[in-house]
Amino acid sequence: MNRILENIRALFPALSQKMNGVPLVYLDNAATSQKPVEVLELLKKMNGEVNANVHRAMYELSDRSTELYEGAREKVRQFINAPERGNVIFTSGTTASINLVASSFCRRFLKAGDAIVITADSHHSNIVPWQLAAESIGAEIRLLPINTSKLSSCDYGAKGANCGTSQCVNGELLIDKLEELLSDGKVKIVAATHISNVLGLVNPVERIIKISHAYNVPVLLDGAQGIVHEKVDVQALDCDFYAFSAHKIYGETGVGVLYGKREILEEMPPYMGGGDMVGTVTYKKTTYAELPLKFEAGTPNFIGASSLKPALEYAEYLREPEVRKVLKEEESKIKRYMFNALACEVGDVEIYGVGDDGFESEKKIPLFSFNVKGCNAGDIAQLLDKMGFAVRTGMMCAEPLLDSFGVNSVVRASFASYNTVEEAEKFIAAINRAKSMLL
Ligand code: PLP
Repeated sequence: MNRILENIRALFPALSQKMNGVPLVYLDNAATSQKPVEVLELLKKMNGEVNANVHRAMYELSDRSTELYEGAREKVRQFINAPERGNVIFTSGTTASINLVASSFCRRFLKAGDAIVITADSHHSNIVPWQLAAESIGAEIRLLPINTSKLSSCDYGAKGANCGTSQCVNGELLIDKLEELLSDGKVKIVAATHISNVLGLVNPVERIIKISHAYNVPVLLDGAQGIVHEKVDVQALDCDFYAFSAHKIYGETGVGVLYGKREILEEMPPYMGGGDMVGTVTYKKTTYAELPLKFEAGTPNFIGASSLKPALEYAEYLREPEVRKVLKEEESKIKRYMFNALACEVGDVEIYGVGDDGFESEKKIPLFSFNVKGCNAGDIAQLLDKMGFAVRTGMMCAEPLLDSFGVNSVVRASFASYNTVEEAEKFIAAINRAKSMLL
């Protein structure tokens, strides 16, 4: 194994444990990534030492925790290139960030008869909050569809003996339909997935934003997966909101970020009321704190949020040219190997999310959702677990998307910076074994 990869793996204690008596192969990174030692150390230090409520007290320990909390906010600002810290709101996760916008933005800017566009590849977190808002206002949800056409894996360039037995669902967004959805002037916000947690395809978000802005419609990006795999510059993208979770990018669980443009956030009413989000309070009327605290009612998860500093520093380390080169090479090998091996060696497989440019494309992340014909996805995952593999199975919190493929469950293997081609090879051997046990 390459020295850089070896060093990276050594940073993650969770990777060296055994499950069911065999070494763990962790391939559920799209759900939650493991944490490097720097993050674990910070969490230990804050829980054991720097544990005092932020913003409120006139004593040294509270100053220290506030410094770590606000330092993490500054790190997030730099990482996504937000203009100022006021644009960076800490929440409990992507879900909370989207709920905040769906509730507060829609209350302020939508009326009965208006519409909201969401992308068909959305996670439930980018569907249900908009449905709740739309129902309460009398607004309509419109769908930007995806290409559900299915082709033989040979047509996508898979090479091997049983290639013709496997099928691939394209999964790309039908971006040309967006103008049609916007043209009657009723749409007040577009909420798009940056990278789908089922398809692993990087959506053309620049185009979505450009087209939507031409109709004066702001855009929220669900960046739960996007923040991990793409370099996100919110100013260059010109998105109006960007939502992500810390636990998918090497940080603590129960923490997320909402980036928003100041001029829109200023207009939006608070989402929740309570301590820390106020200016002055009387029994009759309250004025609100400046951004970002206006949207951070109550004691925040200051320990979890602080983990974003070391977590994002690790993510930045992965972008150093020498490291990036090694990781990109490994990722390309993993993608090529997994696609060909699933389609041809395992065979009789249906793969979801290939895209017009195929698996080798930069627009496909190393995430593989599939079904083996004749095998129940849950049964496969259970057998894999016995062999030490952690993968996701089920609806992936994307029931409508799976419905559009005519399935109610998939197996998903999602790779992170610390996964290797050797693990991919072991995974394919384990799938073959599971298949032979189930058929
Ligand atoms: N959006 C996408 C694309 C996701 O992959 C996820 C989590 O899997 C979410 C939203 C929700 O993230 P969280 O549960 O951290 O709020």
